[in-house]
Formats: sequence, C-alpha cells, structure tokens
Amino acid sequence: MNLYNNIFPSTEEFLLKASEIIKNGGLVAFPTETVYGLGANGFNPIAVAKIFSVKNRPSFNPLILHIDSVSSLELLTTIHSEKVLKLVDKFWPGPITLVLPKTVLVPEIVTAGNSTVAIRIPNNEIATKLIKLSGVPIAAPSANSFGMLSPTTAVHVANQLQNKIDFILDGGKCSVGLESTIVEFTNDNFFLLRDGGISSEEIEEFLCEKLKRKVLENNPNSPGQLKSHYAPIKAIFFIDEVDISNFNKEKTAIICFSDDKKYSEFTFRKILSTKADFTEAAANLFFFLHELESENVDFILAEKIPEIGLGKAIMDRLTKAVNHYR
Ligand code: AMP
Ligand code: MG
Repeated sequence: MNLYNNIFPSTEEFLLKASEIIKNGGLVAFPTETVYGLGANGFNPIAVAKIFSVKNRPSFNPLILHIDSVSSLELLTTIHSEKVLKLVDKFWPGPITLVLPKTVLVPEIVTAGNSTVAIRIPNNEIATKLIKLSGVPIAAPSANSFGMLSPTTAVHVANQLQNKIDFILDGGKCSVGLESTIVEFTNDNFFLLRDGGISSEEIEEFLCEKLKRKVLENNPNSPGQLKSHYAPIKAIFFIDEVDISNFNKEKTAIICFSDDKKYSEFTFRKILSTKADFTEAAANLFFFLHELESENVDFILAEKIPEIGLGKAIMDRLTKAVNHYR
C-alpha cells in the first residue's frame, strides 16, 4: 500500500469531496497558514468526538472553531463588542484566535465544557473554501497525535496519523508554521492565553492597550499553557543548559537562530533564519524538527531565541519541547 494514498491535491473536485466528508460526520486534515488541522463539523458532537479519539487528545482540551466569515460569529458567540469586531477586522483572516462566550449552538465537547469558545478565520484559501463548501464551522486542532510535533506539511500528517484518517488535503508547507495566538475577551478586557503567529506587541500596538496575562500553569482548561507540549521524538535540550562537549558531533543536531558559522563541527545543523528573520524562523521551526525526526541523530540542542515579536512564540514551543526531557 502506498503510504500516502490518503493525501489529495486541493483541487475543486477534492475540496468538494472533503466537504462531503465533513457534512457526513467524517474527518478531513487540511492546511491552514499556522499548522495542518484535523477537522470535523463543529456542530456535530459525534464527529468532533472522533478528533479526540484519533489524536488521543484529552477531552479537557478545547478545540478552535474555524469559520470563513465574520458574520458566522453571530451563531457562535453571545457577545457583540465593537472592540472585538475591530480586532478581528484588522487581523482576520490570520493566526489569531478569539476566545468568547459561546452560544447554545456550540456543543460542549468543542469547548471541553467551558462557557467560552475559541474561534478564528484562517488565512488560507484552501481552508476557507473547505469551510464555505461544508457550510458549518470546522472544529480543528493540529493534525497530530497529542503532545507531539505539529504538522506543517501533508506528509507530516500522513506520517503521524498513518491509517487513522482517510482524507488529507495537500496545501504545501504552512506559511506561518506556528499555532495561532490566543486572546480571550472577558469583562471588556483582552487576555493573552498563548503566544503564536501574531506577536503580542503587534496586537497591543493596534489596541493601544496591554494584553492582560492569565498565569495558569498546567491549567487543564487551557492546555495551550501546559508546561510540556509540542515534543519531538528525539530528546531536545537548550545548548546553554548542557555541557556541549558531552555530545557526539555526528549524532547530535544543532538548531541555531541565525549565525551559520557557529557549531560547524556538528554534522547536522539547522539555521532557522540566516537573515535573523523571526517570521522565517517560525515557519522553519516545526519543519526542521520533523526533518530531524527522520535523521540519524540521537539528540537535538537548540539555541535560545531572542524573545522579541514572534521570538516569544518560538521560545514558548521550544521550551515546551525541552520541558518534556528536563
Ligand atoms: P490547538 O490545540 O492549537 O488547536 O489550540 C487549541 C487551544 O486553544 C487549546 O489547547 C486551548 O489552549 C485554547 N482554547 C480553546 N478553546 C478555549 C476556551 N474555550 N478557553 C480557553 N482556551 C481555549
Ligand atoms: Mg496542537
């Protein structure tokens, strides 16, 4: 059997087929600009339950509903706020998810019993076409096994979920490559729940106010805040937290931010961005980690990234991967 006989090009024909699967309560993996999603009809609790079972995702971990138009907000949230509309008007479609009070139409399984629901419009035409054709919001977490690396190509999805899913739409490599930034709107205030594809600085500049923080370490209701997550199979450490001389130069991979002359004695080196560009670095992070999974290396040593702009989201993902092995 061809390992990838479940990957299909995103032509009109296969988009239509994919939308039929969604309408009939099945699962479709599809590209977004952040990472590949594993989608189901967000109004169908049984379809959504399949996502949890395929991913081995704990049921306390709520999902994001993906929509294709701001007008769908009316169906999903009880809040009518000019502040929220201004924010989404600026950043949607794009990698920012809003957490808002839910309506009765949103099944409990989507929100893991929370009274709030996470919503966004992805900035990817294949995704928005699929949502439009399906005629429902698509509930979708990343299309990987829980706790593992997020997929940024169709092949990453196929490799991780093997024969557990029948239909993967191919949209090439994700342009952002990191999960969305999550912002909750409560009591007229914006709270940052997770760093992601749009930097908190950019959001704060637009809002002319600081995002508030909720420090809820390992709060199960917000697993974007779990201490350990997004872990590669190979043990990963921060370079400055280990004695580098203990590591075999042929079988240890280095992930550098930008300086391509550093650590050249190591056979496997990945430079996130030779231009020190955070957007490029973010797009490469999971991609490189996936590549290293299949290389003959035992360990990965990562340089710390300056925590400016998207550097914060990159460090968040790296730290969560490293915490798995600390
Ligand atoms: P992902 O797993 O990348 O699709 O992102 C889903 C994440 O969104 C969850 O792990 C939570 O951190 C967050 N999230 C989703 N829904 C809610 C909610 N109702 N309240 C708080 N956080 C949420
Ligand atoms: Mg995920």
